[in-house]
Amino acid sequence: MKKEKDESLKDKEHTFKDKERTPRQKDEVEEITPKKSKKKKIFLILGLILVPFLLVGIYYFAFFPSLVLVGNSTIEVAYPDTYTDEGAKLYRLGKETNGNILVDNKVDATKLGEYEIKYTYKESFFSKSLVRKVFIVDKEPPVLTLEGDKDVVVCPGQKYEEKGYSATDNYDGDLTSQVATLEEEGKINYSVVDSSGNRTTDTRTITEKDDDKPKITLTGSSTTYLILGKAYSEPGYKASDNCDGDLTKQVQVSGSVNKDKEGTYTLTYSVSDSMGNKTSVTRKVVVQKAPSNSGVIYLTFDDGPNDTSTTKILDVLKKYNVKATFFVTMSGSDSVILREYQEGHTVALHTASHNYKTVYSSVDGYFNDLNKVSNRVKKITGETSYIIRFPGGSSNTVSRNYSKGIMTTLTKEVEKRGYHYFDWNVSSGDAGETTSSKGVYNNVTKSLRLNRANIVLMHDIKSFTAAAIEDIIVYGKEHGYTFAPITMATTPVHHSVNN
Ligand code: ZN
Repeated sequence: MKKEKDESLKDKEHTFKDKERTPRQKDEVEEITPKKSKKKKIFLILGLILVPFLLVGIYYFAFFPSLVLVGNSTIEVAYPDTYTDEGAKLYRLGKETNGNILVDNKVDATKLGEYEIKYTYKESFFSKSLVRKVFIVDKEPPVLTLEGDKDVVVCPGQKYEEKGYSATDNYDGDLTSQVATLEEEGKINYSVVDSSGNRTTDTRTITEKDDDKPKITLTGSSTTYLILGKAYSEPGYKASDNCDGDLTKQVQVSGSVNKDKEGTYTLTYSVSDSMGNKTSVTRKVVVQKAPSNSGVIYLTFDDGPNDTSTTKILDVLKKYNVKATFFVTMSGSDSVILREYQEGHTVALHTASHNYKTVYSSVDGYFNDLNKVSNRVKKITGETSYIIRFPGGSSNTVSRNYSKGIMTTLTKEVEKRGYHYFDWNVSSGDAGETTSSKGVYNNVTKSLRLNRANIVLMHDIKSFTAAAIEDIIVYGKEHGYTFAPITMATTPVHHSVNN
């Protein structure tokens, strides 16, 4: 039944519609009404979808904080400076705001390179990131050091012998092996580059030149004394040149000595090097009669100096204007020897060690020891002394224990080498016989003779001797003696040799 009714209704409707509308209207009714509601639905759906996006967009662009770097986005750090990152800041609606910015910072300022620091800020589903670039760079060039002079003079035709160089870099460390050298005309260029390309250069100039004269060294004193009638024998010389080496054989000696005529003769020693630089030195030879030194007292002091007792003796000598002779060793202060020299006394040589075993073991042993004290005196006074006294005197027998016949050899050898040795004919006995000033005084005064030269042996290291000097001087002056220092012109007193 119901079905029938429906069908009849349907039919009615059809009928009604068909009746009411044209065919065209019939189509429109059927189509327009459902289309309108569809569009509305789409708009609604689109709206529902877009609005949240819009809200999110508004939130993101307006409310989500902006991330801003503090400082530059690219930073260069010069090694070895440290890098402190200044970080980034957050701004929400133009105002700084707090928030946890994640920083990924891998910068290692101890290693050159390019680094990135990443800053990230996250809030709900969103995040923002920024990147900063940091460059650790080395701008410091290496330090190049040249050993020796930078302006070098070499002998003509000679090559410069490298004195050495070194290079260090603040980042690379030792770069000495990386130094490049380039020899040019009269120049050596040095160059070194560090791993960052920083370069350092330096130059050494090489000049070939020889302006230095050869040197001539005379053996023996530059003034020698010759007793009238005695033959002159040349003590010898040596010549050397900075570029040519030994030139002794090229030395020419001019001038002559007439042994039979009193006077002062000059011998000239000359030599030239291959560049024509010429040197000349002279030696004066004084030919004279044996000087009369009767009644002269030569006060001689061995084994010093001693800072206390020698100074005391010097004070007394100064007070009486008496000049004496000091046979020195390596003891005491240089200043005392300098004072002896400056106050007009003769600084003579004893030996350096005064050790019998050392000085009398061999000829070389003796001269090596003598040279030591000779060098000391030369350094202090500027003069080489050729006046010597053998420890124990030339007559000593103790040397027999060390070398048979050594005194016979040495007494001849020293004269050959230009030295004059002096023994004594008045002994103070202060080496053991007496230990008192009175004893020294008595020993000296009883042995003095007016008809001869008196060479008095004393030791300035003994305080009781120092205390006796004033009385001895007063005695000498009161008894017609004069005082003098030993010089190269003084006729020596020699003992007889016993070994
Ligand atoms: Zn002595």
